[in-house]
Amino acid sequence: MLEKYDVIVIGSGPAGYVAAIRAAQLGMSVACIEKWRTPEGKGVNGGTCLNVGCIPSKALLDSSQRYYETKKGLAIHGISASGIAIDIPAMMQRKTKIVSQLTGGIEQLFKVNGVDGLFGTGKLLVGHNVEFTSHEGITAVLKADHVILAAGSLPIEIPVAPVDGRLIVDSTGALDLDSVPKRLGVIGAGVIGLELGSVWGRLGSKVVLLEAMNEFLPIMDSGIAKETHKIFKKQGLDVRLGARVIGTELRADEVHVRYTSADQSEHSEIFDKLIVCVGRKPFTDGLLADGAGIELDSRGAIIVNAQCETNIPRVYAVGDVVRGPMLAHKGSEEGVMVAERIAGHSAQINYEIVPNVIYTHPEVASVGRTEEQVKEAGEPYRVGTFPFAASGRALAANDSDGMVKLIANADTDRILGCHIVGPSAADLVQQVAIAMEFGSSSEDLGMTVFGHPTLSETVHEAALAVNGHAIHKVNRKVR
Ligand code: FAD
Ligand code: NAD
Repeated sequence: MLEKYDVIVIGSGPAGYVAAIRAAQLGMSVACIEKWRTPEGKGVNGGTCLNVGCIPSKALLDSSQRYYETKKGLAIHGISASGIAIDIPAMMQRKTKIVSQLTGGIEQLFKVNGVDGLFGTGKLLVGHNVEFTSHEGITAVLKADHVILAAGSLPIEIPVAPVDGRLIVDSTGALDLDSVPKRLGVIGAGVIGLELGSVWGRLGSKVVLLEAMNEFLPIMDSGIAKETHKIFKKQGLDVRLGARVIGTELRADEVHVRYTSADQSEHSEIFDKLIVCVGRKPFTDGLLADGAGIELDSRGAIIVNAQCETNIPRVYAVGDVVRGPMLAHKGSEEGVMVAERIAGHSAQINYEIVPNVIYTHPEVASVGRTEEQVKEAGEPYRVGTFPFAASGRALAANDSDGMVKLIANADTDRILGCHIVGPSAADLVQQVAIAMEFGSSSEDLGMTVFGHPTLSETVHEAALAVNGHAIHKVNRKVR
């Protein structure tokens, strides 16, 4: 540990650890302070993403999908299997192993890049001093030329359903259930509700999602949200829209939930577990000393400009603790941008092109603007769609629910957005993100040679459909 660093990063989630590594690669002396501890009390890097977010949730999504497919999806291929069972402790052990491998990987990356990883709590003091209190309770004041705040976010709690960690859990608890609940309630049919609801639903829970909004996935393109809702309904997912929870009661091993529906009538349900996932909030508790002078907005997020600089020069903030979508890759890109700018390079982020994915089956993915946003902006546009039901590869895989929707400017043909529900939507949408980053038109995508038979051909056909040239479907007339 030095007395003074070029850069001190507080928080080693995907925003902080990436910023620290890039700053070190650029030749700066860097410390990254992290307060997270494993259940055994050991300091660990990686933040929400690696410990209780992206990675463990995807590990469980993959395990549960394999179980579900083996149980329900093999007969159509002529395969019979019996005695299929799920071993929850083994599934959880696999998840924990992946998490440790990746969090340990960050420690290695810090070592090889010369980042001082410090386990303990960081607090920004007046000026560019940072108070570091180690897990052992030793405090030191470290000086820095630049400070990057990357403290992340926490689940939002609601008074009507207080998390007790046993019957009512948040997303972290929902990643660690020790058995499959027979009846699982989920408050909030957003990203976490759909992903974790899918995990336990595939393993056998009867899942009911209680969603306050009247519309399903209102942040998505409405055509894709409707298609997604249709597919999930077909799968048997029970999403109750307009459902406002007004009370919960713990009785022995059950949670009794009362809620009102859109018509204000009152209902009740009994669950064995209840997951509360109604959004996340920026986390700044203990991060800023009185007088540090950093401005927060009404949501508690640190206010930054487009370059992630706070109101105090040379103090930056990145990731979930600032405005914008709470996504790991958005935070990482902000971390890189800040490190580059500190090093005197020009760097910026195109916030218009940040992919967003829900890892259900099928996946739901989007990049760029929705049709509603383009319409509202009064921009002339055309839409091209292509169904997976017309994709040879999707049919061969018996995975043909969903569609690709591409939106382009009607005058310039420049791609404005792409929205997909379907197999491998996450990877497909990335192809369009790259095209958009290069300012591509739908014609450019249409003129690109796509391998056959691939799921990517659906993107190709949707691009062709924008101008009425799709080959494997009936085109709409283009004016
Ligand atoms: P965090 O990852 O929250 O890291 C912040 C770190 O700062 C933490 O380790 C915290 O301990 C530390 N810290 C805070 N204050 C201090 C302090 N004073 N001193 C020292 N350390 C401090 N996003 C995706 O893009 N894709 C996904 O598939 C995805 N899945 C998710 C699934 C779940 C269940 C959840 C909960 C989230 C998921 N997310 C996903 C969101 C993603 O995890 C976050 O957007 C991302 O982790 C934010 O990164 P961050 O570095 O800003 O913050
Ligand atoms: P979310 O914002 O995606 O969904 C929360 C849902 O809860 C919304 O639909 C909201 O209308 C509903 N809601 C809010 N209050 C309610 C109430 N009192 N009763 C019933 N419903 C209520 O939030 P989340 O699912 O908690 O996820 C938090 C964030 O984590 C996401 O916004 C996302 O940024 C990130 N995340 C991303 C991924 C991914 O990229 N695949 C996965 C998980 C989480």
